[in-house]
Amino acid sequence: MRGNSKLSPSPNPLPSREGGISVIPAKAGIHLCFLFLFSFFSSTTFAIQPAVVSAHPEASQVGLEILKKGGSAADAAVAMAFALSVVEPHHSGLGGGGFLLYYVAKEDRFYFIDYREAAPQILQPKVSKKAIKPNADFEKGVASVGVPGFILGMETIHKKWRKVSWPAVIDPSIELAKKGFLTDSEMKRLLGDASASLPPKLDFTDLARTLENIKTGGSWVFYQGELGTQLVSFLKEQGGLITSSDLKNYKVYFRKPYTFDHGAYQVVSAGAPSSGGTGMDILFKRAVIYELKKQAPNTTRFFELLIKSFHDYFDFRDIALGDTPNNIISHTTHLCAVDSEGNIASMTNTLNSPFGSGLILPHTGIILNNELADFSAQTNSANRLRGGFRPLSSMAPTLVFKDKKPFLALGTPGGLTIPQNLFQVLYLFLDEHIPLNRSVAYPKIYFSPKTREVVLEKGFPKKMLSWFKENYEIREENTIGNVEALVFRGDKTTVVTDPRGQGRGLILN
Ligand code: GLU
Repeated sequence: MRGNSKLSPSPNPLPSREGGISVIPAKAGIHLCFLFLFSFFSSTTFAIQPAVVSAHPEASQVGLEILKKGGSAADAAVAMAFALSVVEPHHSGLGGGGFLLYYVAKEDRFYFIDYREAAPQILQPKVSKKAIKPNADFEKGVASVGVPGFILGMETIHKKWRKVSWPAVIDPSIELAKKGFLTDSEMKRLLGDASASLPPKLDFTDLARTLENIKTGGSWVFYQGELGTQLVSFLKEQGGLITSSDLKNYKVYFRKPYTFDHGAYQVVSAGAPSSGGTGMDILFKRAVIYELKKQAPNTTRFFELLIKSFHDYFDFRDIALGDTPNNIISHTTHLCAVDSEGNIASMTNTLNSPFGSGLILPHTGIILNNELADFSAQTNSANRLRGGFRPLSSMAPTLVFKDKKPFLALGTPGGLTIPQNLFQVLYLFLDEHIPLNRSVAYPKIYFSPKTREVVLEKGFPKKMLSWFKENYEIREENTIGNVEALVFRGDKTTVVTDPRGQGRGLILN
């Protein structure tokens, strides 16, 4: 399970301001890598010290090896994404999608790549989810599967910014699928959890063969070739709606990132079809309006204003962007990479729910997403289900620049909690000057006006908890999110991973 035990109170609570109820941070910085120490003594000739971070040590190792071979940050990100499809098959993979935010140093330019899953063309606008297929369950199972974007996404990113070959970014994952790896406690828990919609057969030999096929035939095998044909006939058999023309017509888009300034910082994050960038922008602007800075971050007044800001954000989101089901459990993955030229990748991938739709394409190891669950059930919503459209996301791969120079790369899983979580991390770090590892570890809160429930992460002191209980409808969650981050100071890179997960950062010296 994601580090419940790691969230026990730390012997080093945050220094509290006078009169405040002290919030005891979760155990901080246990993953703040040893490598940080190693890197401290190294001499570098890089624009920025190359580094990777991901939610799984095996995937990070794969990314580091790619950097060692002279791969770009994009190569390392793609290789880690493929590796995560093997070692974290419940969070992301070939049957899913995601977003990449990429900074190209020599162009001083940001790219936002959208390879999110799309609704099948057959779905017409202005019909409710129920009217399309009266008994269809768009939350789980076959009707919830969106056209997967992962494979074309990875190929597109690799083709645009490659420094190493396509086989080089896939081979390590084939190796992992063949030789096996240690199953982490979270995967073990999910494997034993029926509500996680475990695919009936998760066969890594199948997955290895599929990866071999993609290595040889590229995305074509999935969108036009044998794998695609298999997918369409399997879904048809099951009563699904995706056709071969949906696959052929699937596109990866280079979109505009969402950018805003916060004091000396420029925050660059996910634009449409994600609400991530907008969300953080609104929250930072609210922080200024509500003069959050006047409150110590461990006081009840601080949390009162924070919840008010969350309320404002959702008011805007629901009207302007469309509502989404209240999905807040973490089952997505974030990774970052930086190469010797200073190119930076911040990438978030997902299947939506743990193991997506719970369906696996037989004999392929491809777990199919349930991303259509992210569409609104309302026919008048801006986020209503429509053929070819992509559902509104909250995923927010983010980069922060200071004085036009790279400062931070980060992201997290957590569905609707993502913008709120990243805002809390960034606010504590940028505005309160709390070290990033402690800002990440600090217990988080989430609020949705729809349920009017304040979701509290474990770790709040009793006194604070009673205050929340007196004033709000509350629910406690073991953990919210799993942040992975890189910090750039001059040419030095440091890594911060979340004590809630088992992420690892590695720095190339
Ligand atoms: N499907 C969600 C989204 O795009 C991500 C799922 C999660 O992070 O839990 O916002």
